[in-house]
Amino acid sequence: MTTIPLSPALVERLRDSGPILALTGAGVSAESGLATFRGPGGMWEGRDPMELATPEAFADDPHTVWRFYAWRREQAAAASPNPAHRALAELESGRDDFTLVTQNVDGLHERAGSRGVIRLHGTLWRLRCSVEGTERDDLRDDLGPLPPRCECGALLRPAVVWFGESLPEEALERAMHAARRAGVVLVAGTSSLVYPAAALPEIAQRAGAYVVEINPEETPLSALADERLAGAAGQILPAVAEAAAAASRDRS
Ligand code: NAD
Repeated sequence: MTTIPLSPALVERLRDSGPILALTGAGVSAESGLATFRGPGGMWEGRDPMELATPEAFADDPHTVWRFYAWRREQAAAASPNPAHRALAELESGRDDFTLVTQNVDGLHERAGSRGVIRLHGTLWRLRCSVEGTERDDLRDDLGPLPPRCECGALLRPAVVWFGESLPEEALERAMHAARRAGVVLVAGTSSLVYPAAALPEIAQRAGAYVVEINPEETPLSALADERLAGAAGQILPAVAEAAAAASRDRS
C-alpha cells in the first residue's frame, strides 16, 4: 500500500473522466540512474549538444557522435525500469483507454512491460541508414566504437530525433489525437521546454482534460497545470496507478 495521498479531485477524475494520457520525459528514468538532460549533473553538462545531437555533427564527425550514443546505449542497457515505469505499464494493462507518450529513447518503458508506447523522439534501440532512411531494430548492448554500415554502404545512425529534425509524423499525430480525447493527463519527469511535446498538455487542457504535473521542480507547465504533485515519479506514479485501478474496480 502506498502512503502518498492524492487529492479527491484527482481520484474523482481518474474514476470518471475517461481516457488517461501519460507524457514522460527524462525525469522518469532518473530513479533508474540515467542522467536527465539539463541542469547540474545533466547529460549536457560539459558537453555541447550541437556537437553530439545534430545531423550536421554526425556528418562532420560520425565517430564522436557514435561513441556518445554507444555510451548512452550501454548506460540504458545497464539500467533497470523503476517503479514509475512499472506503474505506467500497470496502468496500461488495467484499462483500454490509456496512452503513453514518451520523449525518452532509453527503452525502459518497454522493458517495464508497456506495449503501446508512442515514442516522440525515437529510440536508441533502432538504427537508421543516414542516406536511405530505412530503419532496423538492433538490441545489442555493444555495437563497437564505429558506426556500422547499411547494405547500401552508407553509415547507420541512431534512430533518435536530433536538434533541428522533425518528429516522426505518425507518432506525433497519434499523440495529438490522444491529447484531444484525454480526460486526465499525467505529465511526469519533463522540463516541458521542448516542443511539440510540451504542447500536448496544453492541447489536452483546452479540450477539457485535467492536467497533472509530477515533478520535484517547477517548469513552465506548473502555472498551467490543474494540479502539481511535487515529488519523484517513482513514488507518485505508483499511487496514481493504484488509485486508477481502484477506480476501475469501483466502476465494474
Ligand atoms: P529534461 O532533462 O529537460 O527534464 C527532466 C525533468 O525531470 C526536469 O524537469 C526534472 O526536474 C525532472 N525530474 C528529475 N528527477 C525526477 C524524478 N525522479 N521524478 C520526476 N521528475 C524528475 O528532460 P526532458 O524534459 O525529457 O527533455 C525533453 C526532451 O528533449 C528529451 O527527452 C530529449 O528527447 C530532448 N532532447 C533531445 C536531445 C537530443 O539529443 N536530441 C537533447 C536535449 C533534449
